[in-house]
Amino acid sequence: MNHSRLSSIKRKADDLAKLSMNQHLRLAVTGLSGAGKTAFITSLVNQLLMGAENHQLPLWQLAREHRFLGAKRIPQPHLHLASFDYQGGIDALQSQPPCWPSPTHGVSEIRLKLRYTPQSLFWRKLNHSATLNLDIVDYPGEWLLDLPLLNMNYAQWCEHIALSLKDSRKAQLAEHWQSLAQQLDIQQSANELQIADIAKAYTEYLHQCKRELGMHHIQPGRFVLPGELAGAPVLAFFPISPALAAAKTNNKDSTLTLLNQRFEYYKEHVVKQFYQQHFVKFDRQIVLVDCLTPLNSGHDSFSDMQLAVNQILHSFNYGQSGILRRLFSPNIDKLLFAATKADHVTPEQHSHLVSLLSEVVAEGKRHVKFEGINTSTVALASIKATQTGKAQLNGESINALKGILQSDANNQQPTTLFPGEVPSSLPKQNFWQQQGFEFSPFQPPQANPYSALPHIRIDQAIEFLLGDKFK
Ligand code: GDP
Repeated sequence: MNHSRLSSIKRKADDLAKLSMNQHLRLAVTGLSGAGKTAFITSLVNQLLMGAENHQLPLWQLAREHRFLGAKRIPQPHLHLASFDYQGGIDALQSQPPCWPSPTHGVSEIRLKLRYTPQSLFWRKLNHSATLNLDIVDYPGEWLLDLPLLNMNYAQWCEHIALSLKDSRKAQLAEHWQSLAQQLDIQQSANELQIADIAKAYTEYLHQCKRELGMHHIQPGRFVLPGELAGAPVLAFFPISPALAAAKTNNKDSTLTLLNQRFEYYKEHVVKQFYQQHFVKFDRQIVLVDCLTPLNSGHDSFSDMQLAVNQILHSFNYGQSGILRRLFSPNIDKLLFAATKADHVTPEQHSHLVSLLSEVVAEGKRHVKFEGINTSTVALASIKATQTGKAQLNGESINALKGILQSDANNQQPTTLFPGEVPSSLPKQNFWQQQGFEFSPFQPPQANPYSALPHIRIDQAIEFLLGDKFK
């Protein structure tokens, strides 16, 4: 074979190698607000950017086999999306005293280029390193709670909200916006200012449900996490009495017409658009769940969190939901459930946390698996804020945690505590009677610019979510 033919074959082999050795993956991170999305992405990016020098990732095969060559941040693909503020998060963790990164409130993304040595001898002989462009996308789980709205009209939604007000605590909080709404003559021409005021009162009611009752299952989700829609008229609507909502109106400018129009607009341009513009493009998904704060807050908060998380999982249940089938064809093939903030419990409790989370998501997980999506469950701490040690209790030595409580940020004195036992299955009545769990937020550790953030099992998450891409 002559020289030019040989080099042409070599060039073709090289091109082929480059093609198959440049992969792309879009990883979505979600969870209810406070679940730990911002902390997770900050730590994940940090672990990857620390590159081959990061020796804290033994559960990630690529790192263990010394085939991970490093990562760098490159420009994100979607210029209209907010960038995930990685540097802001790191600055907060490096400040004195260190603070948790400020949470995000909408969709944001960050792109990393990961370089590695492929496993296959063939590619290695060709002396090629390979790359994976990884997009990490953060979005609020609350936005997925709006899915059921697509099956309702305005009157049905009002009916649904009226039913939820059978809970006397919610009914009490609802008094203000309800009394404002009752003053409206919905058949008369709409007064924009009055409508905006009532929508504001309704939004405040939703915030109070979150704050005071520890509720997570909030609809419409964008009202509490509006992202770029803050102040837009599409969020200026609210439920009214179901009987009035079902009435006919001949006035095309009436309040009733306007409320109906805004509800429909919200479904079409806010809810559906999120699925069509973002959800359809995700390849892998991690759903973060904070089981510990609701364990602390009590039975109703815990049940509500369970309801909300399972509602979130309906969005991965393409087959069951005709709407989703019509909106897009699914892409996600792996979904990880992660119980966050595992550093709030002693290590022997981690298996309890995993089995508790498995029960919390059991219903949703069945459907997700039916769709052929590969799932797994892990307990992790994105940024480990405590150390494990021993303490004496009634003359006995027990495992305990040591860390600086957020409430001690002024005096920087560490506290040693035993937070209580995590139930390994859904808590029974006696758990709530004894209120056996104590959750107090810890200050994050002081970040060191030269080493990766301390974590628990973030490498296990990386292995599940990305591991198969590095063959
Ligand atoms: P997001 O709203 O889902 O983005 O939640 P964040 O990431 O902002 O986390 C909310 C709060 O949870 C933080 O401010 C921390 O107090 C706490 N947190 C999150 N991740 C961890 C973790 O790994 N360990 C500990 N101890 N606390 C965490």
